[in-house]
Amino acid sequence: MIRLTGVGKTYPDGTVAVHELDLDVARGEMVVLVGPSGCGKSTTLKMINRLIEPTTGRIEIDGQDVTDADPVKLRRDIGYVIQQIGLFPHQRITANVMTVPLLHGESKSTARQRAEELLDVVGLDPATYGDRYPHQLSGGQRQRVGVARALAANPPVLLMDEPFGAVDPVVRVKLQDEFLRLQRDLGKTVVMVTHDIDEAVRMGDRVAVFAAGGRLAQFGTPAELLAR
Ligand code: ADP
Ligand code: ADP
Repeated sequence: MIRLTGVGKTYPDGTVAVHELDLDVARGEMVVLVGPSGCGKSTTLKMINRLIEPTTGRIEIDGQDVTDADPVKLRRDIGYVIQQIGLFPHQRITANVMTVPLLHGESKSTARQRAEELLDVVGLDPATYGDRYPHQLSGGQRQRVGVARALAANPPVLLMDEPFGAVDPVVRVKLQDEFLRLQRDLGKTVVMVTHDIDEAVRMGDRVAVFAAGGRLAQFGTPAELLAR
């Protein structure tokens, strides 16, 4: 589904963020990129949805080179969840999720219905939380809204950068489990970034271990990695 071949990124200041990266992600698979801060994980994620252009190599989604893809269509096919999800602070929760279907030309009532369904999917009762503002939710709840908004476009691919980073450890494990169930039910292809090896092993079908200098040190199933 997603294939990176010899992908590298050197920033204009000379920083080599990613070096000669080969990575493939199958349809419906969850691949976790893990490693210490600064080893190129976020850069890799952003190259997949073309927020950043690679310096070298090739990135394909469904066999198509992303540099040939229409960026608008690409963003629609790829949901993106980051730690600072940036909900609109002056919009209520339901309205925050509705923005995506509205952008896609859905009617207000269809968009509202879709938003409420998705809030339910991520475990937030729309009757209780839909009319609140983002600051009236806990960190964990805001992350759920971010996931709901990313799912609103029904993208086949989700990219997630430290999606559970801002929440406390107990809520984090709960969100991890819930998200795994959701991902399997919906059959999403997911690439997730974390610096937490436990999270990586717990969630990844396969785990890509990054080392300093944006190099891939290991890539395999959790069982394969733990066996070494
Ligand atoms: P990670 O996600 O693993 O923490 P990043 O992909 O954010 O790593 O960063 C990889 C390297 O690239 C780091 O050394 C970082 O400082 C550098 N870097 C990231 N963004 C930029 C940028 N816009 N300009 C220059 N260097 C950058
Ligand atoms: P979590 O364990 O998910 O981080 P918190 O302890 O932060 O949860 O919040 C617990 C409950 O308090 C949640 O149901 C949340 O909706 C509610 N809450 C948190 N902050 C506010 C706020 N500023 N106004 C109203 N309710 C809030």
